Amino acid sequence: MPGIKSLLHFIDILGVDETPDLQVFKQALSEVATDYHMARLFFDESSTADFAEYDRTVIADDPNSAEYGDILHYTFRMEDGLYFAITIYAEQGHAYPDGIAGELRAISNIAFYNYGRIKFHDLVVHASMTHYLTGLPNSGGFLKRVGEIFASGKLSNYDSYYFNIRSFGSISKRYGYKQGDDMICQYAHAVSHFAGNDEIVAHVSEDNFVALIKKSHYSPFITMLSEVSVNAVKDGSTHEIKLSATIGVLHIDKELNDISEVISLPAIAMNSAKNVLHQAVCHVSDELLYQVSEQKRVLERFPGAMRNNEFMVYYQPKVDSRTNTLVGAEALVRWIHKEEMIRPGAFIPVLEREGAISALDLYVLEHACADIREWLDEGIEPVQVSVNISRKDLEDHTLPYRIADIIDRFGIDRKYIQIEVTETMDETEHGIMTVFLDKLYEMGISTAIDDFGSGYSSLSTLRNFKINTLKIDRSFINNDVISKNDEIILSDIIHMANALNVEVITEGVERPDQLEFINKVGCYLIQGYYYDRPLPLTTFIKRLKTRTYPENPQEIDGIPTEEIG
Ligand code: C2E
Ligand code: MG
Ligand code: MG
Repeated sequence: MPGIKSLLHFIDILGVDETPDLQVFKQALSEVATDYHMARLFFDESSTADFAEYDRTVIADDPNSAEYGDILHYTFRMEDGLYFAITIYAEQGHAYPDGIAGELRAISNIAFYNYGRIKFHDLVVHASMTHYLTGLPNSGGFLKRVGEIFASGKLSNYDSYYFNIRSFGSISKRYGYKQGDDMICQYAHAVSHFAGNDEIVAHVSEDNFVALIKKSHYSPFITMLSEVSVNAVKDGSTHEIKLSATIGVLHIDKELNDISEVISLPAIAMNSAKNVLHQAVCHVSDELLYQVSEQKRVLERFPGAMRNNEFMVYYQPKVDSRTNTLVGAEALVRWIHKEEMIRPGAFIPVLEREGAISALDLYVLEHACADIREWLDEGIEPVQVSVNISRKDLEDHTLPYRIADIIDRFGIDRKYIQIEVTETMDETEHGIMTVFLDKLYEMGISTAIDDFGSGYSSLSTLRNFKINTLKIDRSFINNDVISKNDEIILSDIIHMANALNVEVITEGVERPDQLEFINKVGCYLIQGYYYDRPLPLTTFIKRLKTRTYPENPQEIDGIPTEEIG
């Protein structure tokens, strides 16, 4: 029986607080359609008031009815400009008295109102699952769909990817941000075009994407990501730009702890490919995850370690091999944690990447200055101590002043400190380094180029930088047999440096034959295990007091391995 009861039932099904879903909505409407003897119930949606083009949803339709009774038609306008119409056809011969027609009007109103809620809700859900720029799913949308694949038990047929467009920041800067957005859209389109219906490509942020791709498509997908062409317009002409990606891959072969690992694990691998390995692709492995957790531990422990003075400064002597006398030292940091020594290789690269190295570098400088102050106070003549400054620190234009301030604060002559930086092949860094070295030179603080010859070395280092010392990397001499080419190159470099008034020291000299070789090519300043390892302060003070080394330095109180002092 139609009437208030079925009207209330209708409202009840739809609920007041929560937005009903479309299925529930249609079910409720079809129930009232039966109650009210409707042969047909349509609701039509159109963007124009005359419903010239519309989407029709049929709720009730009796195909046997050739004829109808009353026909009621209600039109509504939605806020977003859409029109919505409900048309009710009564069963043949059935008329709706005024009271019932009034109820049907109320039902149509409620239906309209709820339809609006459903549309709006869908819109919000869609927006919250979609990247606004490219229209691809965002991470939420990605995880929702991955969840569906997981529920169907098919997730292990897939690999998940996290990829970042290489150098996109500078490309976008060159062409302008609007063109940048446009390139991202073209890129998104191209990559999602590759994916099949049962695969997912999503846009997580800026130039970062994720994808879930069938294992069988691994190679073609990686190949595709190595070069995606997009177009950009600059000064009226169109340029083709080939974008390549840095990619992290997770082979989904075991149970994941959490579904979100389909994003977080390949993201870790991508990060490692980009910032540590400097290669295009990196796969998630137990080893990688271990390294990353170790690095995380370093970062977590670092502030506490600084507070607890867990960092010690060791001094490695520099010796003039002509006279076997101590002429300088390099300050090298050691992290002593629970009686265990952690070597710089385990934490310096991590701190550099995370932008935390400058605090440590200045800490080492401060400790070196404090030690020199103490030696002076105790009447021990100091030697020049070189301190390593990470290239990552150099962007801070105030650094030269801070270095000078620290030295001056201890009231020691600036000549006692030398600053070591490693050379670079990056042009921007090269510029920054020139400014930094010039400034120190101007302030009367000695400078050295470290690890010369280890990677990219250029004679322009000698030409462009104002430096006092060139430190030849141990890779030049640590071969079992030193080649004739190395000999020629080294002796030329040493010659040139000397002519330019730049002092040359070789590090990593361990064996007598290496010493002999390096002397032969004209370098007499030596830092290496041949004379001494990096020494704890107390042992180094002994060296400061004796100053000279015996003919066979290996014989002195012998420190076979580095000790915790
Ligand atoms: P580096 O500045 O080139 O320092 C020389 C490295 O060579 C030191 O390693 C030293 O122990 C090692 N070495 C010296 N002689 C020999 C030898 O005869 N044979 C061999 N096999 N090795 C030798 P260490 O102390 O492990 O330091 C490694 C690197 O860590 C340093 O290379 C430097 O780049 C960095 N580092 C150390 N302390 C600091 C610091 O306070 N700040 C910054 N930014 N970097 C530092
Ligand atoms: Mg050094
Ligand atoms: Mg070095």
